[in-house]
Amino acid sequence: MKIGILALQGSYFDHQKYFSNLNVDTLLIKEPHQLKEIDGLVLPGGESTTIRRLIDRYNFMDDLKDFCSKKPVFGTCAGMILLAKEVVDNPTHIGVLNVRVKRNAFGRQKDSFEEKIMVNKVGEVEGVYIRAPYIDQVGDNVEVLAIHKEIIVAVQQDNILATSFHPELTDNLLIGKYFINMIDKRISKA
Ligand code: GLN
Repeated sequence: MKIGILALQGSYFDHQKYFSNLNVDTLLIKEPHQLKEIDGLVLPGGESTTIRRLIDRYNFMDDLKDFCSKKPVFGTCAGMILLAKEVVDNPTHIGVLNVRVKRNAFGRQKDSFEEKIMVNKVGEVEGVYIRAPYIDQVGDNVEVLAIHKEIIVAVQQDNILATSFHPELTDNLLIGKYFINMIDKRISKA
């Protein structure tokens, strides 16, 4: 199994370290053709507008949409924004996850925080929120996995997993294990 991490901008090195701690091969994805080599893809946190600009500059969009329609994808923070079908007051990017997200919804940089959170099917993890988005509407086929103070912060829609927070900045590996399990299931079905 090989997990690709979109490496255009943001916390891709942290994801690489995180998944190495789970003994999984990773590949930093800098060009669209590399998507053919991987079984699952992580869209890291960072700055969604910057990542989008780079997606366009390097002609990633069609291949990303295609990948998201077939294989497991995990978006954290900016990655969740990139996946959403609707972004409040902002353009849609990849638009495959049936949710509406609000950027910087918990406030500004100084309002970044950490708090333990129970994630359904995964267990208790350390939630690290950095200018995080949250989900204010979910559509069909979206399962809510975690709620922080009545606000949705983790969801799954079939092969797509998304969190407002950053598991890769903690040493709690439960979300990573869950994502690896999603990939394993997909591989054994194929
Ligand atoms: N605020 C960023 C954005 O809107 C996301 C922050 C993050 O990924 N930590 O893209």
